[in-house]
Order: sequence, then structure tokens, then C-alpha cells
Amino acid sequence: MSEQSCRIIALANQKGGVGKTTTAINLGTALAAIGQRVLLIDLDPQGNASTGLGIPSTQRELSTFDLIAGEADLSACVQDTIVPGLAIAPASGDLSSLDTELVDEADRFRRLDSALFAGGSIYDVVLIDCPPALNILTLNALTAAHSVLVPLQCEFFALEGLTQLMSTIKEVKAALNNTLAIQGIVLTMYDRRNNLCHQVAADARQTLGSQVFETVIPRNVRLSEAPSHAMPALLYDETSAGSLAYQRLAAELLHRMRDGSS
Ligand code: ATP
Ligand code: MG
Repeated sequence: MSEQSCRIIALANQKGGVGKTTTAINLGTALAAIGQRVLLIDLDPQGNASTGLGIPSTQRELSTFDLIAGEADLSACVQDTIVPGLAIAPASGDLSSLDTELVDEADRFRRLDSALFAGGSIYDVVLIDCPPALNILTLNALTAAHSVLVPLQCEFFALEGLTQLMSTIKEVKAALNNTLAIQGIVLTMYDRRNNLCHQVAADARQTLGSQVFETVIPRNVRLSEAPSHAMPALLYDETSAGSLAYQRLAAELLHRMRDGSS
């Protein structure tokens, strides 16, 4: 994907439950709220981003499965969400069968890249919500993306998990997408009363320097409640600490992108 006007960002971390989907939904909403045309691509068979944005599994006639299987183009899969300016290509459970279904296909890691190349340029930002695995779906995301945004939960072993992700990113750069960049690391579920959280955040900043976003996403109950109301936290409770943090993250991301610092 070479369209420079459209920034494609994969949200990836093979560790489960670190805030990839929460970040995809709420960062996408915050970017749309400041006028960006945003597409969220749900590449996780769990389909949490789709459900969290009000698209139940019964309303996903075409999904990212069809996109990667080569059976539908992007515009056919995309649906509007309740957030103006934020569209979604929803996921379906059969995504998990693609690993075996496409095993003999030489272009199996480039399917999403091709689909976005053909139909992605109408968006300013494309966010790809990856599953918690370094599988064919995540490899499609990393091949299609300009950059990777890594949510990092402030907990013990968080940094160890990053080593594996970074070596996968290196391999993808060498074999599939030589311009892939690290967009940054976002610290999530930060609890300022927890000393371990402070320690992990300090270690991350020391090891990774300016790659770590200044904005930290706090642990906030509104962020975890919102998906059960099928809406982003920014609609559910606009002034909650979680919503405000994602608005700051959107501003910081745009600032860094315009600055060319990542
Ligand atoms: P998976 O790897 O399973 O796809 P994920 O990395 O996408 O998970 P999320 O689904 O975003 O992670 O978050 C995991 C759980 O933690 C969810 O129940 C979510 O509502 C909750 N959660 C995420 N971020 C926060 C936060 N900042 N404060 C409170 N709860 C949060
Ligand atoms: Mg998820």
C-alpha cells in the first residue's frame, strides 16, 4: 500500500487482553471526531471490535474473511458505524480457518495489502485490529500497514512479550514490507496507585525511549463497560478518564505523524 495520504496502522501484540481492541475502537472514534475519515479493519475472529461498535454477528454478511479469501472487495465489506466518519470492515469467526485454507497460496500474506491498495485511499487513517497471535491474519496486517502501534499493558513480563513481536516485525520488514515502521508503544490499563505499573512504565520509557507515547491510557471502568452497550466509550461517557485519554492519544498520534517523528 503506497498511498501516502492514507495511513495504515496495525494494532498488534500477540499477548491477549492488552487493549488492542479498546484502542482500535476508541482511538478510531477520537480520530473521526476530529475530522479524520477512519476505517477500522477487524481481523480478529473474536470480532470484539465489530460487536463493540454495534455490528452484531447477524449483521455481518460480508466480513474480512471474504476480503482475505479474495471473495469480495473492500467497499463491499465495509459498513458505517454509529460514529460519523468511522467505518468498519467487520470480522467473522471463519477468519480462523484461513491459516489452513490459504496454506498453498503464494500471495496469502498480501491479501489485505491488495484489498487496501484497491480501495483504501478514501480514508485518512486505517486501523487494523489484530488477533492475539502472530498468525496469517497478523502477517496480513503487518504486510499492509505503514506502521505498527503496540498497546502494552502495564504488568510484569510486558516487555518480554515485546521481544517476540519486534523480531516478527523485523522478519516482515525483510520479507514482505520493507518500509514498515513502529508507530509507537501505548501504555494501557495504567493504575497510578499500583507501584508495579509505575515500574513497568518507567522501564518501557527507559528501554524504548520516544517510541513510547506520552499519553498513557488509565485503567478506567467506562472503557470496559462501553462495549456491552455496543458503543465506544467516547459516546458512552465522553468525559470519562478513558475517553479523555483516547482523545489525547489521537491528538498525539496526528501530531507525531505530521511531525514525521514516527
Ligand atoms: P484480545 O487479545 O483478546 O483481542 P485485546 O488486546 O484486544 O484482547 P481488549 O479487548 O481491548 O484487549 O481489552 C481486554 C479487556 O480489558 C476487555 O474486557 C476491555 O474492556 C478491558 N480493558 C481494556 N482497556 C482497558 C482500560 N484502559 N481500563 C479498563 N479496562 C480495559
Ligand atoms: Mg482484541
